Amino acid sequence: MEWKKNDRFTVTIGDLSEDGSGIGKLDGYIWFIKDTVIGDVVEAKVMKTKKSYGFARLERVVVPSEKRIVPACPVARQCGGCQLQAMRYEEGLRFKEKKVFENLRRIGGFNNLQFVDENGEREGTGQDCGASPGGIPFYPIIGMGEPWRYRNKAQIPFGLNKNGEIATGFYAGRTHTIIEHDDCLLGIEENQKILAIIKQYMRENRITPYDEEIHRGLVRHALIRKGFRTGELMVCLVINGRKLPAADKLVDKLCKLEGMTSISYCINTDDTNVILGREIVDLFGPGYITDYIGDVKYRISPQSFYQVNPVQTEKLYGTALEYAGLTGTETVWDLYCGIGTISLFLAQKAGRVYGVEAVPQAVADARENARLNSLTNVEFFEGRAEEVLPRMYAENHITADVIVVDPPRKGCDTACLDTIVKMAPSRVVYVSCDSATLARDLRYLCEEGYELEKVRCCDMFGWTGHVETVVQLSKGEIQSKKIRVDFS
Ligand code: SAH
Repeated sequence: MEWKKNDRFTVTIGDLSEDGSGIGKLDGYIWFIKDTVIGDVVEAKVMKTKKSYGFARLERVVVPSEKRIVPACPVARQCGGCQLQAMRYEEGLRFKEKKVFENLRRIGGFNNLQFVDENGEREGTGQDCGASPGGIPFYPIIGMGEPWRYRNKAQIPFGLNKNGEIATGFYAGRTHTIIEHDDCLLGIEENQKILAIIKQYMRENRITPYDEEIHRGLVRHALIRKGFRTGELMVCLVINGRKLPAADKLVDKLCKLEGMTSISYCINTDDTNVILGREIVDLFGPGYITDYIGDVKYRISPQSFYQVNPVQTEKLYGTALEYAGLTGTETVWDLYCGIGTISLFLAQKAGRVYGVEAVPQAVADARENARLNSLTNVEFFEGRAEEVLPRMYAENHITADVIVVDPPRKGCDTACLDTIVKMAPSRVVYVSCDSATLARDLRYLCEEGYELEKVRCCDMFGWTGHVETVVQLSKGEIQSKKIRVDFS
């Protein structure tokens, strides 16, 4: 059958794609339909077709799946920030585990993964992906106790709504009209109060919101951050100008809020969609807030990178630390270390830790964080992991008992993996935000003699399709392989 745009059809959703779209099959043709749930029977409208698959829009749920729930957020569909709000949280977790499991099997070739419970026992896992007994344990995903209000950071755009009033929220797809929404359920409750104060201040002082189409208007974004452990709040207004008029009036109101610690503005007069500019002007407080992950203290300025879900980050890094198996004497390398979050976590239990990170500002923050925590057994190097590690291995004969990597989505460069193999640490701990590149890199390491010991996912971004994974590899046959090479 030839499908045309806006044709309607009814289909049963049988699966979910990598990004959480429902998949329905009709006469062998595959439809991707967002906002649907496995088990739904839906009526959908054709949007775009390709040879063997197409995209359709959900028009009506004819028979709801038993996994379906009413999204808690009233604008879940328009916003698009959350992909999984139409299914129970537990179902979202199952989806994430399955995605990682399938990628490791399909791309990594790990056919003997085995879902196990907390204790490593086979029973009670509920997933059935045809795993073989006695395989590599795949532990239950670390879910959130409370999957709402977990984000400690929000960057909220300002604009005008349809009535020409100052509004905050998000842009409706491909338009410049702001859909007003001041209470994202993933963000902190204080966001709403802070935005109301800023809008009132703007109205009273005739301050305009920015219009990105004509590059005019002053207030572009509000950056709001909170230290979950300390309760400290930060507000930074991003403006298209060099001065914030009547700033004292804004400060007077904002600093009455409990926990308000830092108020500033950031100058960004560039005509781009990069949110922050380089220059920050402090209006109130020291220019930073403080927070803790575990026992490690972090100083967070408007521009600092900091994990957005600190509660789950502590669990993820706790798992990485457990998988590193440290006794207090080891030499550990932490590649792609960012501001040193994992490095400092490890430094509490290791002999020495070396971090490598490409972004200079992050390295400066990492050093500052080490100093702040009086951790003297850690050292940071600036540069690309695939350049720093091979060079230091060749020139300085560096060694490692454990190597931890936490690369961006594209995974590790082969030059980096190669050097890891040459350094032959007893354990490699791989923390990943993209299970496809994780699977590819694990395959590489395992072909070079490493063995995949265990896998565990962690939900850092509930209701979205994202999932973090941490795995442990051990040396396996690398030593014997080396000997073979030596004799040949
Ligand atoms: N482990 C850190 C950050 C992980 S995010 C934390 O949890 O805080 C990945 C980091 O890798 C980013 O900080 C990014 O700047 C850095 N990065 C990206 N490519 C890199 C490369 N080729 N070499 C070293 N670092 C890199």
